[in-house]
Amino acid sequence: MSEMNFADYQISEEIQRALTVLKYKSPTEVQSKVIPLALENQDLVVKAQTGSGKTASFGIPVSELVAWEEKKPQALVLTPTRELAVQVREDITNIGRFKRIKAVAVYGKEPFKKQKDELSQKTHVVVGTPGRVMDHIERETLALDQIKYLIIDETDEMLNRGFIDEVEAIIKALPTDRVTMVFSATLPRDVENLCHKYMKNPTHIEIASTGVTADTIEHSLIEVKEADKISLLKDVTVVENPDSCMIFCRTKENVDTVYNELNEAGYSCERLHGGLEQEDRFAVMEGFKMGNFRYLVATDVAARGIDIDNVKLVINYDVPMEKESYVHRTGRTGRAGNKGTAITFATPYEGKFLKAIERYIGFDLPETEAPSSQEVARGKAAFEETLNSKRVVRNNKTARINQDIMKLHFNGGKKKKIRAVDFVGTIAKIPGVTAEDIGIITIQDNMSYVDILNGKGSIVLQAMEKTTVKGKKLKVSKAIK
Ligand code: AMP
Repeated sequence: MSEMNFADYQISEEIQRALTVLKYKSPTEVQSKVIPLALENQDLVVKAQTGSGKTASFGIPVSELVAWEEKKPQALVLTPTRELAVQVREDITNIGRFKRIKAVAVYGKEPFKKQKDELSQKTHVVVGTPGRVMDHIERETLALDQIKYLIIDETDEMLNRGFIDEVEAIIKALPTDRVTMVFSATLPRDVENLCHKYMKNPTHIEIASTGVTADTIEHSLIEVKEADKISLLKDVTVVENPDSCMIFCRTKENVDTVYNELNEAGYSCERLHGGLEQEDRFAVMEGFKMGNFRYLVATDVAARGIDIDNVKLVINYDVPMEKESYVHRTGRTGRAGNKGTAITFATPYEGKFLKAIERYIGFDLPETEAPSSQEVARGKAAFEETLNSKRVVRNNKTARINQDIMKLHFNGGKKKKIRAVDFVGTIAKIPGVTAEDIGIITIQDNMSYVDILNGKGSIVLQAMEKTTVKGKKLKVSKAIK
């Protein structure tokens, strides 16, 4: 954290208020370097790792700079994975909550029509994976002529995944009169080339003080035979007794095996891998964020983009095959200044992978002994107690920012020729309510949703039961979603 304060920047009251609710007290290093320049519309190449606060470093200036009145998208954020797209959308929605910024995520495997409908309404920021963004561009469901900001997030990973052609095609389709920001944990040649080709004298920002992994993480290594891993896992979890824990495996099969073992042993756990439906994947991640269970067993699909406050312990049940993956997996803990522990299980023949990881992170992983049976016995009572208690998530940012918001559902929309202004006109006339209390409005064919802010939901709900919108009587209720 730096000496600066968010109040020192030219940021509106609405955004400052959201930062206060999110408990972002002072800017992180990357934020203190990026925000002032981004607010001046400079092209930037930023070398920063996940966990450094990089999402808010572009989320804050973008939310500040977009014009609320404009209907078409003004900022496009490209991410390598669907999970990250959803996370970035959530972060920007939270930051822009009181300015009523509408951010939409578009990614594969979700119905195109749903995204098309969302994009046809007022949208300030679009966050998406390259393939689906390109689809929307080709089918002309994503208007590009008002795009003023392009952000490419985790660019190295984007290119590793072979998205270079899509990324270039998207860039070429955008207005040239725009600001481009590239974020990347590493800056290999292909990333540099991309920047050189499409950016205007970008300023390079490097977050020098941290290594590839955050120094808030305590790393260790335990050598174990493959057949002994499950029992080691149980011993380690008893001794560590984490409030929350992610366990990474190399394959879906291993995830299933570990999950079944833990489940049978009474652990509060869920699993996540690419073999599950996308909807289930999001549901599991959401459940973990909400604190519905303590242990998440996963493949590398969960290694990126999930921002869960304070995962206490990360266990590499299998050594990751790629050095970068070690950094991403362990980066789920020790975030935003919190402390965390990362323990890697290694079989005797995995030395070559470990060497590559150690060279990459710049230090040797300290080897420790497996917990002794006495240690396990000593930890048992406390462990059982945790297992039988509900996990409490102290810092669910989205829940906090939404606590004064009520989403109302109206049973009429486009087909009844109702537009957003009709709701604003009607609701702002209710005594004690102003236009400032109205949040995001979504109008579908046969229904509409209106967010009411500042704890005024009940007043509006009551009033609207007796009020017409554009001369039409609509049924109103508190929305379930
Ligand atoms: P990121 O690197 O964008 O994935 O962010 C890492 C974590 O830091 C997320 O949980 C953010 O919500 C949190 N965060 C970002 N900026 C700040 C800040 N200025 N103060 C405290 N937490 C922050």
